[in-house]
Amino acid sequence: MISITLDDGWSTQYTLARPALKSRAIPATYYLVTDAVAQGWGGYMTLAQVQTLKAEGNEIASHTRTHADLTALTPAQLTSELHDSRAWLEANVGAACGKDFASPYGAYNATVMTALKTEYASHRTINAGRNYRDTVVYELRANDVSSAVTVAQVKGWINQAIAEKSWLIILFHEFTSGTPTRETQYKTTNFTSILSYVKSTGIRTVTVEEGLALTDGLTEAPPSVGTVVYDDAMGSGFQDWSWATHDLDQAVTVHSGSTAVGFEPDYWEALMFHHTGLDLSLYQSVDLWVHGGTTGGQQVRLALYNGGTPLGSINLETALGHPIAAGTWQKVSIPLSTLGATSGTVDDFYVMDDSGSDQGTLYVDDFVLVPY
Ligand SMILES: [Zn+2]
Repeated sequence: MISITLDDGWSTQYTLARPALKSRAIPATYYLVTDAVAQGWGGYMTLAQVQTLKAEGNEIASHTRTHADLTALTPAQLTSELHDSRAWLEANVGAACGKDFASPYGAYNATVMTALKTEYASHRTINAGRNYRDTVVYELRANDVSSAVTVAQVKGWINQAIAEKSWLIILFHEFTSGTPTRETQYKTTNFTSILSYVKSTGIRTVTVEEGLALTDGLTEAPPSVGTVVYDDAMGSGFQDWSWATHDLDQAVTVHSGSTAVGFEPDYWEALMFHHTGLDLSLYQSVDLWVHGGTTGGQQVRLALYNGGTPLGSINLETALGHPIAAGTWQKVSIPLSTLGATSGTVDDFYVMDDSGSDQGTLYVDDFVLVPY
């Protein structure tokens, strides 16, 4: 799915972007600098225009009162920027407004994050990338469509989101029917080309609020940086002892980064990643992403060993609760407690054929041990 977001509340969003969105029935999320509207700053939308956008089914969200850098404020100023902007939207545009937030300049730190969580249901950043079901809603990724970004680039992002069934959020500032003179202006004809492409693909168009309702709504970062078994390469301290036919540099079917493992889970053969020894008591789960290639349904087992001693294992279909899907990536998170492997040393990780037969190519990426 895709969300079109428009920052700051520039009047060209109303005069140039709104007609293009409205004629295609694409809803958008407008992150407003509320003092600009409340005080009638030049170049910004009026309250009546904002109310019209709301009435037409768009989301009205907050981008602070004055567009301050939130990392440079006193506690009282921070509260005012966050709370008062939301309260103003609720009072003037509608009770359902001001639920979601975007930080000016994408600037935030731990203090800002703690404060904004008390006021808002989400926080859109300007960190590039796509969002997934398990994206932390206070770190929503968004791609900035600055004047230099081509229509072809945005089409590429849309195609990527469709292919991986992720959520693409793109953001715009001002619009111009002429040639952009600032990085934050976007050519209206390019904007309409993007919107027409959105419609032609059939990708679901959602406001941020609607998109959030389709995620798991995680509000905390998952346990940070695990011990990498494999991401774009073997993790530090690991060696590849695999005996199945495999490719650690496979670059076509990739979950993140530039490569994933492609492998043939045939006749009890396995990927085998060997380490000199890790203390299991420090970790809570083994997480990895799997992609069933063109066939899906592969029978594959994750097993942990200490030398020749099995510590625990599980079939990935059992861990997922459903068969491995064809054509898409899925995350498998396996608590060590379900493997019965919560202490001692692990030195071998197997991803092994569990069928004893010839199966389709399977892909594995972002394979980590998650610490407590
Ligand atoms: Zn802004």
